Amino acid sequence: MSPNTRNLLQKVWDTHSVRELPGGQTQLFIGLHLIHEVTSPQAFAMLREMKLPVRFPQRTFATVDHIIPTDDQQRPLADALAEEMMTALERNCADAGIELFTPASGKQGIVHVIGPELGLTQPGMTIACGDSHTSTHGAFGAVAFGIGTSQVRDVLATQCLTLARPKVRRIEVTGALGAGVYAKDVILAIIRALGVKGGVGYAYEYGGAVIESMTVEERLTVCNMSIEGGARCGYINPDDTSIEYLRGRPYAPEGAAWERAVSEWRSLASGPDAAYDDVVSLDGDRLAPSVTWGINPGQNIGVDERLPLVDSARPEHRASLEEAYAFMDLKPGEPIAGTGIEVAFIGSCTNGRISDLREAARVAQTGQVAPHVRALVVPGSQAVARQAQEEGLDEIFRAAGFQWREAGCSMCLAMNPDKLVGREMCASSSNRNFKGRQGSPTGRTLLMSPAMVAAAAIRGKVTDVREVIS
Ligand code: SF4
Repeated sequence: MSPNTRNLLQKVWDTHSVRELPGGQTQLFIGLHLIHEVTSPQAFAMLREMKLPVRFPQRTFATVDHIIPTDDQQRPLADALAEEMMTALERNCADAGIELFTPASGKQGIVHVIGPELGLTQPGMTIACGDSHTSTHGAFGAVAFGIGTSQVRDVLATQCLTLARPKVRRIEVTGALGAGVYAKDVILAIIRALGVKGGVGYAYEYGGAVIESMTVEERLTVCNMSIEGGARCGYINPDDTSIEYLRGRPYAPEGAAWERAVSEWRSLASGPDAAYDDVVSLDGDRLAPSVTWGINPGQNIGVDERLPLVDSARPEHRASLEEAYAFMDLKPGEPIAGTGIEVAFIGSCTNGRISDLREAARVAQTGQVAPHVRALVVPGSQAVARQAQEEGLDEIFRAAGFQWREAGCSMCLAMNPDKLVGREMCASSSNRNFKGRQGSPTGRTLLMSPAMVAAAAIRGKVTDVREVIS
């Protein structure tokens, strides 16, 4: 088959296929394995029981992100369980010869933030990590899967995974985004249009003028939430933007190897006549800043819209709308703008990068955090934190009344002490608004872009960021 008629997923899949299995699945070689402290300890324990070594330790990299406190990271950590998990990761990595990025390394951060910034994530790679949002790495044209603990064991032991080849849906985002509309709004609009299960069985290939004009950091945000639309992975074809981002990064190829790699990476992009299992299109000109109002990321609307009426929804969706309204204590037909918040969280692997902090700081410098709001800014990595401090963003946030924290997942999943309390309503730049996601079983999450979170923090309520930055 001509490379012009094949899409990136087909090319990468075939290159990494060890063999087709009798059931129709593929034994797929995994180029890069990223691990962290939460889903790896059991996998290492299983390996020990089976007396198996880590097959390719040089293809595995580790960081600590989920449990790490963002206020005081002195060892031993105050939380005994967190300390135990961190110690286990250190021991496992030392035993297996795996490079680990602890806070002492200066390279620590959320696994999906450090992979790209260190140049570990490269086009055409197959990547696996025991975390749902591994789809992030597809921003470079990698095929990246979130996996469970037993699959982490399999990759450690064999560097392979057994997977069914997904179908490919091309999602074209045409036009151009208006001021105050960000990558987060694009992916929320896609999930709203296609549903949280719309991507089941698919890889999402994002393209079109809006995607192609995005920076790498914006692309990472889009690919990050592919999983929230049900897709197995999401990717964007490698181009000058993604290749230039990688040039000179610590783990990117150098010299002649760089030239060879670039030529290979370019050849992996979907051909001009590539076939897809499905193609959908979205008009980027029409997008507004988005806000989730319910209990899954598909339950979102433009900040200038009113909450959907249950009676107008398709019959199969009505029960979930009613459940969402009951949990969120919001009323159908009301505007989402003006909804009060008590907590604001800027961070996570979706929106904890330097460009996110710059946009949020632009808004933060227009006012003061509302007196009843607790507002946190948590950089996605130590490198992001250093860059932000060099630019004085930390001072802007502090002066506006935000707490400036150390790098980690923080209140995205609240496995560390950063948690909602009771029924608190949180404007969050993270990726999941599931019940209990931010640490309180009754806490409520409104997902939005970092700039929108900053605007909500200052006004104390959901606010159209376009009013603040115009
Ligand atoms: S920031 Fe959230 S989604 Fe991302 S890796 Fe951490 S817990 Fe998972």
